[in-house]
Parts: sequence; C-alpha cells; structure tokens
Amino acid sequence: MKSIQFTHSYNKLGSAFYSGDKPKSVSNPQLFIFNQELQKELNLHGTVLNFEDGMPYFSGNKLIENSSPLAMAYSGHQFGGFSPQLGDGRAILLGSLFDSSNFEYDLQLKGSGRTSYSRGGDGRSALGPVLREYIVSEAMAKLGVPTTRALAAVTTGDMVAREGMIPGGIITRTSRSFVRVGTFQYFSSRNDLASIKKLADYVIARNFPEIDNDKSKYRSFLREVIKRQAYLISKWMGLGFIHGVMNTDNMSICGETIDYGPCAFMDEFNFNKKFSFIDENGRYAYSNQPHIALWNLTRFAESILSLLSNDQKNAIKIAEDELNVFPELYEKYWLEEMRKKLGFEVSTLQNKEEKKIIDELLNIMAESKADFTQTFYSLSNLKNSQSNGDDTLVRFFTNSKKIENWLADWRLSINKSEYDEDSRIASMKQVNPVVIPRNHQVEKVIRAAEDNNDFEPFFELNTILQSPYKFDQNKVKYMLAPKDSEVVQRTFCGT
Ligand code: AMP
Ligand code: MG
Repeated sequence: MKSIQFTHSYNKLGSAFYSGDKPKSVSNPQLFIFNQELQKELNLHGTVLNFEDGMPYFSGNKLIENSSPLAMAYSGHQFGGFSPQLGDGRAILLGSLFDSSNFEYDLQLKGSGRTSYSRGGDGRSALGPVLREYIVSEAMAKLGVPTTRALAAVTTGDMVAREGMIPGGIITRTSRSFVRVGTFQYFSSRNDLASIKKLADYVIARNFPEIDNDKSKYRSFLREVIKRQAYLISKWMGLGFIHGVMNTDNMSICGETIDYGPCAFMDEFNFNKKFSFIDENGRYAYSNQPHIALWNLTRFAESILSLLSNDQKNAIKIAEDELNVFPELYEKYWLEEMRKKLGFEVSTLQNKEEKKIIDELLNIMAESKADFTQTFYSLSNLKNSQSNGDDTLVRFFTNSKKIENWLADWRLSINKSEYDEDSRIASMKQVNPVVIPRNHQVEKVIRAAEDNNDFEPFFELNTILQSPYKFDQNKVKYMLAPKDSEVVQRTFCGT
C-alpha cells in the first residue's frame, strides 16, 4: 500500500499556531460514505484511505502513519462580538498533502473529540450536520463554487447530547487551507507581529504564489483575498445560497466556502431571507452577505496593518484604498453571474438596460415569492420568440401581467444580441442549475438517518447532486419547492 506523504507545513510554523491535540476514539464506527472521485483527485488512491481500510482512520480510532495531528488556534467575531480564544474545538488537522495537480491541501477530521480549544463543548458533531456538510459542500463543488470538500463520513456509535440524544458523526474534509480571517485576528489581538508576518508569508507562498515576488506583496495579498471573497459571494448570490454564520472564523483566506452550519439555498425568493434560527436580527440574511463579507475583510485588513506599512496612518490608507474596491468588484462579478443567468452575452459590453432587466426580475420574483432555482431554470428553456413554453415560467408568479411584460423586455434585449438561440440556451444552462440541495430535502435526509438509521435518502440526494446542471427524469422530484407541510421551520447551527 502506498504511504501517505504528509508535509506538515502548518506544524513548522511553531507551537504558537496550534495545540498538538489528537482525535479521541469512538465506540463503534461505521464508514457510510467515501468519495472515490475525490480520492483520485487528491492523489490518495492506493493508500489506506479507501472504502475498505479507511474506517479506523476516518473515525479517529487509528492515526494515519506519518500524520501529525493538531488543532489550529484562531479568534473570531461571532455575530459582531469578538472572541479572542476560539480555535478548532472539534476538528483535527492531520496534515497537508499534494493533490494530483500538485496543489497543497489540508486533511481534517471534524467531530473527532475534545481539543484544547473546546471550551464547554464536547468536541463532537451530531450526524445531521455531518450529512448537511457532506451533501452541500459536494453539491457546491459540482455547482462550480470554491469550497472545502468532503472525503468521507462515519457514524461513531456514540450518542451526543444536543436537543435530546442524537447519533454522532465525523466528517473528513479537505481544503486548500483552513486558515481563516480569525487566524490572523488571533495574532493581531495578541499584538504578535512576528506571527502575523509568518502566517502571511506561509499563506502567500501556499495559496497566492503568483504574488510572492510582488514589490508590495502584503498589499497584493490583501487585494487578492478581497478579490476571491468578492467572487465567492457573487457565486453564492447567483445560486440563492445563504451561508448563515459568516463569522470571521468562518471566512477562509483562500476563498473557499467553509463551515456548512445552518446554511441553505432559498426556495421562495426573498431579499431578506435567513434560515439560521440563532441569527435573530438577520445579520447573515441573503442580501446582507456582500456587506458582511466587506465587514469581515475590514477585520482582516486591520489584522495585517503592521505588514502594509511601518507608518500606521499610511497602513490604514492602503487598507482603505484596497477595501474601497470591494463594492465595485463585487458588483462586477455579480453582474457577470446574473448576465449569464439571464442569457446576456457576457463577452459583449454590458449595457444599462441589462442591469435594469436583472433588477426588475428580482423585484417581481420577490413580490411573487417565486422559486429562485426553478425561475432561472425555466427561463433557460425559453425560446427567443414568445411561445407556449412561457407558461412554465409564468406559473411561478402571482402577477402574470408583470412577468409577461418583463419577458417582453427581456426578449427585446436578447434579440438585439448576436447570440444564436441554441448557444444562449446552452450557456444559461451552465449557470442555472436543475437541482440544488433544497433545505427540506436535506432535512428529510437527516431525519431518515438520525431517526431510522436509513441512509438511502442521503445516498440518493448525493447522487442526484453530482450533475446539478443536467436534466434527467430522476431529478424531477428534487426540483420541486417544498409543500407547506415540508417547509423547514427551524434550521440550527451545525453543532
Ligand atoms: P462554528 O460556529 O461551528 O464555526 O464554531 C465556532 C467555534 O466553536 C469553533 O471554535 C468550534 O470549534 C467551536 N465548537 C462548535 N461546536 C463545538 C463542540 N461541539 N465542541 C467543541 N467546540 C465546538
Ligand atoms: Mg467554524
């Protein structure tokens, strides 16, 4: 069997960065899913990390040879309030490796027991959140959104105390780096300038090698982190995705979606939609996500001020100049995404009319509480000239006059373009998915597994989401919005 070639680059940063915690054993682990496709991408085929031999490692009962487990230290603003001492309270970094494209990635267990940073927590994870993270993170990858990935998941055989006793689970996930905004805040709140520099140099070399030789490389670093976040949030917005806990400890520096707690995709369009039951004031509601991203990025910029200039005033000026670009940059990415979704030819210059048509559609969708995913998917199927097919879209709107008028404007606009109908439709279908992991479906999967030890709904939903942009008959039932009785009333944080 091929041995696993860990690099342990994070350990080399020194003990200020982590605590050497190990996974704790569980009583009766069962490996119920293993991501074979990801195994290949990660260059792990031929190693013990496979479906037959992986269980002891994915449960934390046995350590992979050459691994060097640790829990990462970090801080974070949670719902706006700063906690100087967070850190991996239930996750263990086993080490980092190189994938088949020679990119470094981290391998982490989540739910593997208490660490030095667990505070009052049990270090465990309930099965439900493990299933949600597996389903949604893999769906995001297939939808083309930067994300952490899921390699495997086990049930532990032990119960965890939440609202009642619930079966426990552990997910093995990977990331291009688990460093967060909160990791930088950890050192800046301790005024440990040397560690901030060490961390920045580490992340730049690993995740932003293209700027490593820039004259003002820390400024470039800030600029690139801002850019990746602007892009990421535009992707979320284009899919109706609501992260739910955009705390600074849940914002990845390398620009991936991380920590699938109370996240969900919205069904009925609502600018202010939120799912998380703990997000009382809607801080992390759908339309607030770009603003929160900028708020978090501002915390990031503050934490690296010492790298931007020796003169604090000057450093603040640099940070402000970079942060000021975010709204425009985000708008650019968002427009690009929305123009694709509406079938406007992105290679041509956008005209004012298009922005108006996009905004108008969102407004009437909100008014009609139209289903987000089905509206865009149905739109992708419409012809250049008015046809019977229009009904498939119009039925999502309570005010048919308004959507019909809108369709007339939309057609006027697309008919001006050089785009032929087939190319337009094909291009729209690349960004308007047939299926997304709807919250009520995810909830059904969780209920079946947690309550009846039935994993069939999980496997089925996971399979369906492997090709979210391709229509086939098996998907029809997953395309539907929830019936009133199926709407999930409360979505909890992923603990
Ligand atoms: P989250 O909201 O899931 O991003 O978690 C915020 C912080 O709380 C992180 O430091 C987690 O590691 C920690 N945490 C969450 N749940 C638990 C738990 N059950 N046991 C220990 N620590 C936890
Ligand atoms: Mg977190």
